[in-house]
Amino acid sequence: MDRERGILFVLSGPSGVGKGTVCKALRAQKLDIQYSVSATTRNPRVGEVHGVDYFFKSKEEFQNMIENNELLEWAEYVGNFYGTPIEYVNQTLDEGRDVILEIEVQGALQVRKTFPEGVFIFLTPPSLEELRSRIVGRGTETEDLINNRMTVAREEIEMMQHYDYSVVNDEISHACSRIQSIITSEHCKVDRV
Ligand code: 5GP
Repeated sequence: MDRERGILFVLSGPSGVGKGTVCKALRAQKLDIQYSVSATTRNPRVGEVHGVDYFFKSKEEFQNMIENNELLEWAEYVGNFYGTPIEYVNQTLDEGRDVILEIEVQGALQVRKTFPEGVFIFLTPPSLEELRSRIVGRGTETEDLINNRMTVAREEIEMMQHYDYSVVNDEISHACSRIQSIITSEHCKVDRV
């Protein structure tokens, strides 16, 4: 990676592991890092805001984004589409600022191919039982959807080998400080300074 460019961090891991919560906690710490807003075809949850949590799109709009090469990566996840708008990422990195993506595993593996110099962080649950109770506790999913998410999660955990770092989300504050340490270490790497 040339020295003028920002660093792309990819925070990934199974659904329900707490990526969203960890990302929010990181945001609250006002780190010098930019957060990409994804596009999705899923319906907004209560309290979610268009342009802040996601860009909520129809299937047709999302398909157009794919065809116009507007997405860095995209994935179908439990019946909905999710994708990262590429322009924001490239522009921000070109300005020398770091970007963090919070995305599921299939998308992260695609980004790995386009941005091999990115830093890939895998957030893991302390255990699968704990993961299930977090998804159930969220109260937004039906029993079928929970089972789907658990099946996907088991497969996703096997993908950890393709990542640079693994961070256990035992407690949000601990996970955040581990991620901050990773960000700091990456900036101190000899080939980046
Ligand atoms: P949720 O519906 O719970 O907001 O998100 C479901 C999953 O989609 C989460 O694992 C989340 O990280 C992932 N996700 C969110 N945005 C993107 C994206 O732009 N690309 C991909 N591949 N996954 C995303």
